[in-house]
Amino acid sequence: MIPFNKPYLSGKELDYIQDAVLNQGKLSGNGKYTNLCQNFFNTRYGFKKSLLTTSCTDALEMAAILADIKEGDEVIMPSYTFVSTSNAFVLRGAKIVFADSRADHPGIDEDAIESLITAKTKAIVPVHYAGVACDMEKIMNLANKYNLLVIEDAAQALDNDFTFSDGTKKALGAIGHLAAFSFHETKNIISGEGGLLAINDERFSRRAEIIWEKGTNRSEFFRGEVDKYGWVDMGSSFLPSEMIAAFLWAQLENIDRIQERRIAIWNQYETQLKDWALKNDVMLPFIPENSTNNAHMFYLVCKDVEQRTNLIQRLKDNKVSAVFHYLSLHKSAFYQDKHDGRQLKQTDRYSECLVRLPLYFELSNEQVKMITEVIVNG
Ligand SMILES: *Cc1c(COP(=O)(O)O)cnc(C)c1O
Repeated sequence: MIPFNKPYLSGKELDYIQDAVLNQGKLSGNGKYTNLCQNFFNTRYGFKKSLLTTSCTDALEMAAILADIKEGDEVIMPSYTFVSTSNAFVLRGAKIVFADSRADHPGIDEDAIESLITAKTKAIVPVHYAGVACDMEKIMNLANKYNLLVIEDAAQALDNDFTFSDGTKKALGAIGHLAAFSFHETKNIISGEGGLLAINDERFSRRAEIIWEKGTNRSEFFRGEVDKYGWVDMGSSFLPSEMIAAFLWAQLENIDRIQERRIAIWNQYETQLKDWALKNDVMLPFIPENSTNNAHMFYLVCKDVEQRTNLIQRLKDNKVSAVFHYLSLHKSAFYQDKHDGRQLKQTDRYSECLVRLPLYFELSNEQVKMITEVIVNG
């Protein structure tokens, strides 16, 4: 069976964990490897501050606390996303206002946001689906106009850029006030479970560190900025152990090699499926001009659910695991009676028709060729 995903070990993961365990004398968080990773992110992507977390879910929960989301506040986000995007804000009492996706890709329809803004709106949470950039220029302009916060769910978007109309390029996750990344084993760069909160608005820097360290100013104490530390704010234990950070550091050292291979696989899929897709009314991933491609995912959007069911079955019969993705959150058991009843046509379409193909570092050219032949010759 060709699995949908296979975690890739780049080589030094176990060496660095061994170093963390045997040599550093520090297994809890915020040590050598945490610092190496955080500095890497700040330098490579231009984040003002980076804090490793135990998951992207945690990073989103931190962001919701930092954004001071309270009972009754409204937060706008796509319905076609993972539950963690919305749960983080639901936990703080927010009402989620779901927006539809674009017709040309599953990201939030930027032009549908403004009409959803009310006096209660506090934040917009764009999700860079498949790593593809939402139009951050439109979204930041709206945020400025209505004085809203932007929290990027960049779980899938590591190592991708957005280009503004004046030609300025910025890394995804470096544009919103806050951004959350995931290193779950299904993402491009992994640590099993793991995440990152990127802080781009310096107003949040000090408080972020405190929330991260259980509501204490422990980090300031260790830097010698205060002579004792104590409980100064609400918080939780959001930081991962050094063993997780050590694993992540080995991955980050190999990010260019990992990305190069994933992009090659992605391009091979596109080349071999282009003509078939056109003939069969199937949509391939669309990458707008203002986004780069980090090859997080290769998906197909079938013309209807029946075509998708048949395709998934045919691949399964040929020992290939292809999987569909999110079920519309506005129709979920938890949220359907809280949703305001608007139809979200594109969201439902992706929910019914999108299928993801295997994409991982060790997938060979021959395997990609076999998978595309099963699809094309079906
Ligand atoms: C993977 C993912 C998450 C959750 O990440 P975890 O690290 O597993 O908590 C959140 N949002 C999106 C869009 C994701 O793809």
